[in-house]
Amino acid sequence: MRLVLLGPPGAGKGTQAGVLCKNYSLMHLSTGDLLREAVKNNTPEGVQANSYMDKGELVPDEIVAGMITEKLKKEDVNAGFILDGFPRTKNQAEILEAALNELRLPLDMVVYFDTSEETILKRLTGRRICRACGKIFHITNIPPKKEGVCDACGGELYQRNDDKEETIKNRIEVYNKQTSNLIDYYQQKKILNKASGDLGVDELFAVLKNTFERSGLI
Ligand code: AMP
Repeated sequence: MRLVLLGPPGAGKGTQAGVLCKNYSLMHLSTGDLLREAVKNNTPEGVQANSYMDKGELVPDEIVAGMITEKLKKEDVNAGFILDGFPRTKNQAEILEAALNELRLPLDMVVYFDTSEETILKRLTGRRICRACGKIFHITNIPPKKEGVCDACGGELYQRNDDKEETIKNRIEVYNKQTSNLIDYYQQKKILNKASGDLGVDELFAVLKNTFERSGLI
């Protein structure tokens, strides 16, 4: 199964991608994670990307598309993958289509997580991430067993720089201006499916499982 998860920041794409990858043995490809890793390792791409990310702006297409196409070519993605946070512009969508055509691995489905602003704000302000393994928690929705400590690996939980209130507003604006038109783009390609991003993790998984069954993907 080859999927793109589309939706505003805080729609739950990363969390749901984790659940789907575990259940269906898919590879999780998150440009946000790749970029944060590059920033942490101080790579040339990371240094360039950092200032955009801190402001909640999109990192230039060349950097992000380069990272993701390299991953798609290098990793074993034949069993399927989930793209989370990519594409975010029409140009990225076109680059992706060309790369996947070359690999003969076209997308099966794009799932758009339709999410209310209230949910987005609550999710982003309460989100905490494990510094060591990247697992996502939420102070009230998905709390760790021990405050500030990752259940999975014992790593320290932190709040992303761009999950501060001032930056969140800009990220939502950037999504509305530069990414939301991909809903129409994929609708025209007849591979778009809509699900409610307001649902809890398990409820949303049940809805998606049903959608995949109906579409013959599982
Ligand atoms: P995310 O973890 O998906 O919320 O991404 C965090 C930040 O990384 C975004 O606010 C952007 O600055 C950058 N980023 C992630 N994916 C992309 C992308 N496909 N295009 C441009 N910038 C991206």
